[in-house]
Amino acid sequence: MGDMMRAARMHAVGGAMQIDEVPKPVASGSNVVVEVATCGMVPNLGNVLRNWPEWCPHLPQPKLPAIFGLDPAGVVREVGENVIGIRPGDRVYVSPVRSCGTCPACLDGKRTQCNYMTFNGYFGFQENSQVLYQQYPHGGFGEYMLAPAYSLVKLPDNVSFEDASRLGYLGTAYSALKKAGHMAGHSVLINGGTGTLGLGAVLFARAMGATRILVTARNRELLERVRQLDPTRIAAFSTLDGEIRPWVLSQTDGQGVDYMLDTLGAVASLEVMVDAMRSVRRGGRIVNIGGTAGDITFDIKWLMDDQITLEGSVWFTTAEGYEMVEMMRTRLVDVTAFEHRKHPLDEINAAINGVGQGDGGFTSYMVTPR
Ligand SMILES: [Zn+2]
Repeated sequence: MGDMMRAARMHAVGGAMQIDEVPKPVASGSNVVVEVATCGMVPNLGNVLRNWPEWCPHLPQPKLPAIFGLDPAGVVREVGENVIGIRPGDRVYVSPVRSCGTCPACLDGKRTQCNYMTFNGYFGFQENSQVLYQQYPHGGFGEYMLAPAYSLVKLPDNVSFEDASRLGYLGTAYSALKKAGHMAGHSVLINGGTGTLGLGAVLFARAMGATRILVTARNRELLERVRQLDPTRIAAFSTLDGEIRPWVLSQTDGQGVDYMLDTLGAVASLEVMVDAMRSVRRGGRIVNIGGTAGDITFDIKWLMDDQITLEGSVWFTTAEGYEMVEMMRTRLVDVTAFEHRKHPLDEINAAINGVGQGDGGFTSYMVTPR
């Protein structure tokens, strides 16, 4: 192997990944080299690989060929001369958020609001992203990756690489719940609550003390599995059985829920989303973290009359990553419901095609490059 490593690269949009020999990264400055143990795959990965340039031309992919892979976890093997507090041998999750580090948003810890914000190994948020793809060309679908020290969440011994490589969508949900408000003693509607993102929201809402967790989705079997996680606090409703708002009112003494998270996927119904939005109480807060795209219609005066807050949220901070792994270490959040579906790097194309074929959010998909 020497100074080379194996990595899966996409050479053409939608084309199969090829296993290539590429130079192994070398740590310098404030960067580290991580040996990747697992890299998680989210349900949207197939869309990003196949449809992104068409669906979202404003969210650029890295120039091809490129190493994708959004949610890596592994072991630090080398640290650059300016790295403080991270050592070779540390077990880490690598958040894919890359940003400039020098703008006011970055300096305030809000890297996802940076004008250069890029998901390493996935897609960026504007043309500036190519600058960061050049600096960090390695996603998690390779044996090693270069990562900035600011992206690392050190893992407690009892948090597995498998569960760590699920942190991306767990964190997206966790950060959105924090933005929604104080959970303990409150009610929250998770629209799309059987999926990878939605089930993560259910688990963290439970850990954060929400006492009524209302879950909507289509699949009745998966909804019942989610409800069984905590039948005292979780209620579930299939959108195949009617509209969301009347059901939510029946569950909340006619008031509506305190908070709503929308976690639906890219091709979900906009009508269902509006139905869920209309299920919050006066003063309620809505946080959108799903991938649903398109124009929706609602009476804007409703936001004022009912004092509704509508907010969008992307990903989470590295500090929130530390909060989550601490909740996992102490079993405050219970992630034992996840089934791990692992593939070696050589099977990456089958692995990518298999994403979404398990039991909704209960199945975690990952490749194991080493
Ligand atoms: Zn910045």
